[in-house]
Amino acid sequence: MIDSGRLELPDFLQGSVWLGGARPGDPGLLSVLALHALDHADIVVYDALVDPRILALAPAGATLDYAGKRGGRPSPSQPDISARLIRLAQEGRRVLRLKGGDPCVFGRGGEEALALASAGVPFRLIPGVTAGLAGLAAASIPATLRGVNHAVIFATGHGASEHDGPDWAALARTGQPIVLYMAMRNLEAITDALIQGGLAAETPAAVIAAATMADERIMVSTLRHVARDARRQKFEPPAIVVIG
Ligand code: SAH
Repeated sequence: MIDSGRLELPDFLQGSVWLGGARPGDPGLLSVLALHALDHADIVVYDALVDPRILALAPAGATLDYAGKRGGRPSPSQPDISARLIRLAQEGRRVLRLKGGDPCVFGRGGEEALALASAGVPFRLIPGVTAGLAGLAAASIPATLRGVNHAVIFATGHGASEHDGPDWAALARTGQPIVLYMAMRNLEAITDALIQGGLAAETPAAVIAAATMADERIMVSTLRHVARDARRQKFEPPAIVVIG
Protein backbone atom coordinates (compact mmCIF):
# COMPACT_ATOMS: atom_id res chain seq x y z
CA MET A 1 0.00 0.00 0.00
CA ILE A 2 2.83 2.39 0.94
CA ASP A 3 6.14 2.53 -0.89
CA SER A 4 8.06 1.81 2.30
CA GLY A 5 11.39 1.64 0.43
CA ARG A 6 11.06 5.20 -0.82
CA LEU A 7 10.13 6.48 2.63
CA GLU A 8 12.76 4.27 4.31
CA LEU A 9 10.26 2.91 6.80
CA PRO A 10 11.56 0.32 9.28
CA ASP A 11 10.85 -3.39 8.75
CA PHE A 12 8.08 -4.78 10.93
CA LEU A 13 10.01 -7.83 12.14
CA GLN A 14 8.41 -11.12 13.08
CA GLY A 15 8.19 -11.64 16.82
CA SER A 16 7.89 -7.92 17.56
CA VAL A 17 5.10 -5.68 18.82
CA TRP A 18 4.36 -2.19 17.54
CA LEU A 19 2.22 -0.03 19.80
CA GLY A 20 0.41 2.60 17.78
CA GLY A 21 -2.48 5.05 17.87
CA ALA A 22 -5.61 4.79 15.72
CA ARG A 23 -7.91 7.45 17.01
CA PRO A 24 -9.28 10.02 18.06
CA GLY A 25 -11.53 9.18 15.12
CA ASP A 26 -10.67 10.48 11.68
CA PRO A 27 -8.67 7.77 9.81
CA GLY A 28 -6.84 10.65 8.11
CA LEU A 29 -4.95 11.23 11.36
CA LEU A 30 -3.27 7.83 11.20
CA SER A 31 0.50 8.22 10.77
CA VAL A 32 2.29 6.73 7.76
CA LEU A 33 4.19 4.49 10.19
CA ALA A 34 0.91 3.18 11.67
CA LEU A 35 -0.42 2.59 8.16
CA HIS A 36 2.79 0.75 7.26
CA ALA A 37 2.36 -1.41 10.39
CA LEU A 38 -1.25 -2.16 9.44
CA ASP A 39 -0.04 -3.17 6.02
CA HIS A 40 2.36 -5.78 7.45
CA ALA A 41 0.73 -6.99 10.68
CA ASP A 42 -0.14 -10.64 11.21
CA ILE A 43 -2.45 -9.72 14.07
CA VAL A 44 -4.02 -6.43 15.17
CA VAL A 45 -4.99 -6.23 18.85
CA TYR A 46 -7.28 -3.22 19.12
CA ASP A 47 -9.31 -1.35 21.72
CA ALA A 48 -12.91 -0.15 21.57
CA LEU A 49 -13.84 2.59 19.10
CA VAL A 50 -11.10 1.93 16.53
CA ASP A 51 -12.74 3.02 13.28
CA PRO A 52 -13.79 0.02 11.13
CA ARG A 53 -12.31 1.83 8.11
CA ILE A 54 -8.91 1.62 9.81
CA LEU A 55 -9.25 -2.08 10.61
CA ALA A 56 -10.28 -2.67 7.00
CA LEU A 57 -6.75 -1.60 6.00
CA ALA A 58 -5.21 -4.72 7.58
CA PRO A 59 -4.15 -7.42 5.08
CA ALA A 60 -6.81 -9.99 4.17
CA GLY A 61 -5.07 -12.77 6.14
CA ALA A 62 -4.45 -10.74 9.32
CA THR A 63 -6.28 -11.59 12.53
CA LEU A 64 -8.28 -8.81 14.17
CA ASP A 65 -8.32 -9.31 17.91
CA TYR A 66 -10.59 -7.11 20.05
CA ALA A 67 -9.20 -6.31 23.51
CA GLY A 68 -12.05 -4.18 24.82
CA LYS A 69 -15.31 -4.90 26.59
CA ARG A 70 -17.35 -7.62 24.90
CA GLY A 71 -21.16 -7.80 25.15
CA GLY A 72 -21.40 -6.52 28.73
CA ARG A 73 -18.53 -8.67 29.93
CA PRO A 74 -15.71 -6.73 31.61
CA SER A 75 -12.66 -5.86 29.54
CA PRO A 76 -9.62 -8.10 29.89
CA SER A 77 -7.27 -6.92 32.61
CA GLN A 78 -4.11 -5.03 31.70
CA PRO A 79 -1.82 -7.93 32.76
CA ASP A 80 -3.92 -10.26 30.56
CA ILE A 81 -3.50 -7.99 27.53
CA SER A 82 0.23 -7.62 28.12
CA ALA A 83 0.59 -11.40 28.51
CA ARG A 84 -1.31 -11.92 25.27
CA LEU A 85 0.96 -9.50 23.37
CA ILE A 86 4.04 -11.28 24.73
CA ARG A 87 2.70 -14.71 23.79
CA LEU A 88 1.74 -13.65 20.26
CA ALA A 89 5.19 -12.13 19.68
CA GLN A 90 6.93 -15.22 21.08
CA GLU A 91 4.94 -17.27 18.57
CA GLY A 92 6.77 -15.27 15.90
CA ARG A 93 3.99 -12.95 14.79
CA ARG A 94 4.10 -9.31 13.84
CA VAL A 95 1.76 -7.86 16.43
CA LEU A 96 0.20 -4.43 16.00
CA ARG A 97 -1.37 -3.11 19.20
CA LEU A 98 -3.73 -0.29 18.22
CA LYS A 99 -4.96 2.17 20.82
CA GLY A 100 -6.76 5.48 20.83
CA GLY A 101 -4.86 8.70 20.14
CA ASP A 102 -1.31 8.47 21.42
CA PRO A 103 -0.67 5.06 22.98
CA CYS A 104 1.25 6.62 25.88
CA VAL A 105 -1.04 9.54 26.78
CA PHE A 106 -3.40 8.14 29.44
CA GLY A 107 -3.47 5.01 27.30
CA ARG A 108 -1.58 2.29 29.19
CA GLY A 109 0.90 2.06 26.31
CA GLY A 110 3.65 2.62 28.86
CA GLU A 111 2.55 -0.36 30.96
CA GLU A 112 2.46 -2.61 27.89
CA ALA A 113 5.88 -1.39 26.72
CA LEU A 114 7.35 -2.11 30.17
CA ALA A 115 5.87 -5.61 30.16
CA LEU A 116 7.26 -6.28 26.67
CA ALA A 117 10.67 -4.95 27.66
CA SER A 118 10.87 -7.14 30.75
CA ALA A 119 9.88 -10.19 28.67
CA GLY A 120 12.62 -9.35 26.16
CA VAL A 121 10.13 -8.79 23.31
CA PRO A 122 11.28 -6.15 20.80
CA PHE A 123 8.77 -3.32 20.48
CA ARG A 124 8.33 0.08 18.88
CA LEU A 125 6.13 2.96 20.02
CA ILE A 126 4.36 4.78 17.20
CA PRO A 127 3.14 8.16 18.42
CA GLY A 128 -0.42 9.09 17.52
CA VAL A 129 -2.47 12.28 17.50
CA THR A 130 -3.71 12.58 21.04
CA ALA A 131 -7.35 13.60 21.64
CA GLY A 132 -6.20 16.72 23.48
CA LEU A 133 -4.49 18.09 20.39
CA ALA A 134 -7.06 16.80 17.88
CA GLY A 135 -9.85 18.27 20.01
CA LEU A 136 -8.17 21.67 20.18
CA ALA A 137 -7.66 21.63 16.42
CA ALA A 138 -11.31 20.69 15.89
CA ALA A 139 -12.30 23.78 17.87
CA SER A 140 -9.67 25.93 16.10
CA ILE A 141 -7.90 26.56 19.42
CA PRO A 142 -4.10 26.72 19.07
CA ALA A 143 -2.35 24.71 21.79
CA THR A 144 0.20 27.48 22.20
CA LEU A 145 0.14 31.07 21.05
CA ARG A 146 3.09 33.41 21.40
CA GLY A 147 2.41 35.95 24.07
CA VAL A 148 -0.54 34.01 25.46
CA ASN A 149 0.88 30.81 26.95
CA HIS A 150 4.22 29.09 27.24
CA ALA A 151 3.03 25.68 28.44
CA VAL A 152 0.06 23.34 27.98
CA ILE A 153 -1.05 20.93 30.69
CA PHE A 154 -2.61 17.55 29.88
CA ALA A 155 -4.39 16.24 32.97
CA THR A 156 -6.67 13.33 33.73
CA GLY A 157 -9.92 14.00 35.55
CA HIS A 158 -10.32 10.34 36.30
CA GLY A 159 -8.76 10.29 39.74
CA ALA A 160 -10.20 13.66 40.70
CA SER A 161 -12.00 12.48 43.79
CA GLU A 162 -9.22 10.12 44.82
CA HIS A 163 -5.93 10.92 46.48
CA ASP A 164 -3.87 10.12 43.39
CA GLY A 165 -5.56 12.75 41.21
CA PRO A 166 -3.78 15.91 40.06
CA ASP A 167 -3.11 18.74 42.52
CA TRP A 168 -5.69 21.12 41.01
CA ALA A 169 -4.61 24.11 43.08
CA ALA A 170 -1.02 23.68 41.85
CA LEU A 171 -2.24 23.47 38.25
CA ALA A 172 -4.44 26.55 38.76
CA ARG A 173 -1.42 28.52 40.00
CA THR A 174 0.49 27.95 36.75
CA GLY A 175 -2.04 30.10 34.88
CA GLN A 176 -1.42 27.88 31.83
CA PRO A 177 -4.18 26.22 29.80
CA ILE A 178 -5.30 22.82 31.06
CA VAL A 179 -6.60 20.11 28.74
CA LEU A 180 -8.62 17.56 30.68
CA TYR A 181 -9.12 13.95 29.62
CA MET A 182 -11.71 11.60 31.17
CA ALA A 183 -13.12 14.53 33.11
CA MET A 184 -16.84 14.53 32.31
CA ARG A 185 -17.91 12.59 35.39
CA ASN A 186 -15.94 14.73 37.85
CA LEU A 187 -16.15 18.06 36.03
CA GLU A 188 -18.06 19.87 38.77
CA ALA A 189 -15.51 18.88 41.43
CA ILE A 190 -12.56 19.71 39.17
CA THR A 191 -13.80 23.16 38.18
CA ASP A 192 -14.62 23.95 41.85
CA ALA A 193 -11.11 22.88 42.86
CA LEU A 194 -9.54 25.05 40.14
CA ILE A 195 -11.57 28.09 41.24
CA GLN A 196 -10.62 27.45 44.87
CA GLY A 197 -7.04 27.16 43.70
CA GLY A 198 -7.22 30.71 42.41
CA LEU A 199 -8.18 30.39 38.74
CA ALA A 200 -10.67 33.11 37.74
CA ALA A 201 -14.22 31.77 37.42
CA GLU A 202 -14.56 33.72 34.15
CA THR A 203 -11.65 31.87 32.53
CA PRO A 204 -12.85 30.57 29.14
CA ALA A 205 -13.57 26.84 28.96
CA ALA A 206 -14.59 24.63 26.05
CA VAL A 207 -15.79 21.06 25.72
CA ILE A 208 -15.04 19.10 22.57
CA ALA A 209 -16.86 15.78 22.33
CA ALA A 210 -16.19 13.08 19.73
CA ALA A 211 -13.47 15.23 18.15
CA THR A 212 -12.83 14.41 14.46
CA MET A 213 -15.76 11.98 14.45
CA ALA A 214 -19.08 12.32 12.60
CA ASP A 215 -20.92 13.34 15.79
CA GLU A 216 -18.33 15.92 16.92
CA ARG A 217 -19.74 18.65 19.22
CA ILE A 218 -18.11 21.81 20.54
CA MET A 219 -19.29 24.07 23.35
CA VAL A 220 -17.73 27.25 24.73
CA SER A 221 -18.40 28.41 28.28
CA THR A 222 -16.52 29.61 31.36
CA LEU A 223 -14.79 27.77 34.18
CA ARG A 224 -17.71 28.62 36.48
CA HIS A 225 -20.41 27.32 34.15
CA VAL A 226 -18.81 24.65 31.99
CA ALA A 227 -19.88 21.65 34.10
CA ARG A 228 -23.48 22.90 34.28
CA ASP A 229 -23.61 23.76 30.57
CA ALA A 230 -22.13 20.41 29.52
CA ARG A 231 -24.72 18.61 31.66
CA ARG A 232 -27.62 20.69 30.31
CA GLN A 233 -26.50 20.21 26.74
CA LYS A 234 -26.01 16.49 27.35
CA PHE A 235 -22.35 16.31 26.41
CA GLU A 236 -21.18 12.70 26.65
CA PRO A 237 -17.72 11.09 26.67
CA PRO A 238 -15.42 10.82 24.85
CA ALA A 239 -14.78 14.50 25.37
CA ILE A 240 -11.93 16.78 26.32
CA VAL A 241 -12.33 19.98 28.30
CA VAL A 242 -9.94 22.87 27.77
CA ILE A 243 -9.65 25.62 30.35
CA GLY A 244 -7.74 28.83 29.73
N1 SAH B 1 -4.58 7.72 24.53
C1 SAH B 1 -5.74 8.56 24.24
C2 SAH B 1 -6.50 8.95 25.48
C3 SAH B 1 -7.15 7.79 26.20
S1 SAH B 1 -8.02 8.30 27.62
C4 SAH B 1 -5.28 9.78 23.47
O1 SAH B 1 -4.08 10.07 23.39
O2 SAH B 1 -6.14 10.47 22.91
C5 SAH B 1 -9.65 8.48 26.98
C6 SAH B 1 -10.05 9.93 26.96
O3 SAH B 1 -9.53 10.55 25.78
C7 SAH B 1 -11.53 10.18 26.88
O4 SAH B 1 -12.13 10.10 28.16
C8 SAH B 1 -11.57 11.59 26.34
O5 SAH B 1 -11.27 12.52 27.36
C9 SAH B 1 -10.41 11.56 25.37
N2 SAH B 1 -10.85 11.27 23.99
C10 SAH B 1 -10.59 10.17 23.27
N3 SAH B 1 -11.11 10.28 22.03
C11 SAH B 1 -11.70 11.48 21.96
C12 SAH B 1 -12.42 12.20 20.96
N4 SAH B 1 -12.61 11.69 19.75
N5 SAH B 1 -12.89 13.42 21.26
C13 SAH B 1 -12.70 13.97 22.48
N6 SAH B 1 -12.03 13.34 23.46
C14 SAH B 1 -11.56 12.13 23.22
